[in-house]
Amino acid sequence: MTAHDGGTRPPQHLADLDIPARRAWMTEIGEKPMRAIQLSHHYFSHLTRDPEAMTDLPAADRGRLSAIVLPELAIPRERRVADAGATIKELLILIGGARIETVLMAYPDRVTVCVSTQAGCGMGCPFCATGQAGLVRNLTAGEIVEQVWRAARVAREGELAGGAARLSNVVFMGMGEPLANYEATVRALRAIAAEPPAGLGISARNLTVSTCGIVPGMERLAGEGMPVRLAISLHAPDDELRDTLVPVNKRFPVANVLDAARAYTEASGRRISIEYALIRDINDQEWRADLLARLLMERGQNWAHVNPIPLNDTPGTRWTASTPHTSAAFVERLRAAGIVTTIRETRGADIDGACGQLAAKEWKEHG
Ligand code: SAH
Ligand code: SF4
Repeated sequence: MTAHDGGTRPPQHLADLDIPARRAWMTEIGEKPMRAIQLSHHYFSHLTRDPEAMTDLPAADRGRLSAIVLPELAIPRERRVADAGATIKELLILIGGARIETVLMAYPDRVTVCVSTQAGCGMGCPFCATGQAGLVRNLTAGEIVEQVWRAARVAREGELAGGAARLSNVVFMGMGEPLANYEATVRALRAIAAEPPAGLGISARNLTVSTCGIVPGMERLAGEGMPVRLAISLHAPDDELRDTLVPVNKRFPVANVLDAARAYTEASGRRISIEYALIRDINDQEWRADLLARLLMERGQNWAHVNPIPLNDTPGTRWTASTPHTSAAFVERLRAAGIVTTIRETRGADIDGACGQLAAKEWKEHG
């Protein structure tokens, strides 16, 4: 906790707890344990916290119970719509005043939400808008789940272009470093993946955690027995450059990060995504593509795919995106070496790989 106005700890929420702990909580507040299941159904199955809808609970208790176990953890402050309605970004204010953002994106075959795990981030990557502000505070599991819950409602209500849809995917690529807030992240993953009424019932296979490469966290996640996808923000294949782009590299250098990623594929059966923001004249040389391909190939065939994304300009840095020509050449070198590579286009806010950053930049102007 810091002296920022965002330092307040939010109240406990049903989504922070597993079913046995929810039942125990009911007993603590003098309720029948089965109330935990009823309230869980309302929140996770019906996506509501409205006491009026809780007709299976005694009328006199509904409001009190909902207020205690389903406190509203995030208040929308501003909404922006982009990509002809296929992208909705929301700035949310947490209890205590910390700000985060969530981005909801409709694709032809899926609906994805990009969630934040921290307000700010302490990792200090110089090209990242979130990193510039430093860490305000960790989010609780409830606050992470609440972002997904809100997104599931927005999708269900048909607010995205394409009409009513089921939220199918969650990427932990908004503000913050998920593995620097490990406990809350894993609790949230479990609550998102669990079948209702325990959770939201979004398959663990459709959840992606993005990390700057916190090796102990990657190793721990491999032991959780959840087949979530792991994305590694590599951005450079050599320690000399990566030490400057992703400062945590000084603690966990490239070779260790790639070894831990390789081990993760063994444990989870999932291919790794390597995120690579292409920064003009900084990390976009063909020799770096060749080096990246070699480092991946040395560790096996087809265990990782690379997602280069042109840098999303951040105010206050001298860096900018690689040219389309250079980006194409970089991709070509990787493909020629046998690495599956998909370049991501930044159109509006439709950027799986950098959603937190774009919003942080835009909203800064509004204070
Ligand atoms: N902290 C985690 C997850 C949040 S950042 C991580 O670093 O992986 C999500 C992704 O956006 C990361 O791959 C990050 O490196 C990338 N990113 C950050 N700033 C960016 C920018 N200005 N342009 C493109 N990608 C960026
Ligand atoms: Fe934090 Fe990820 Fe941004 Fe680095 S890129 S500062 S780890 S949010």
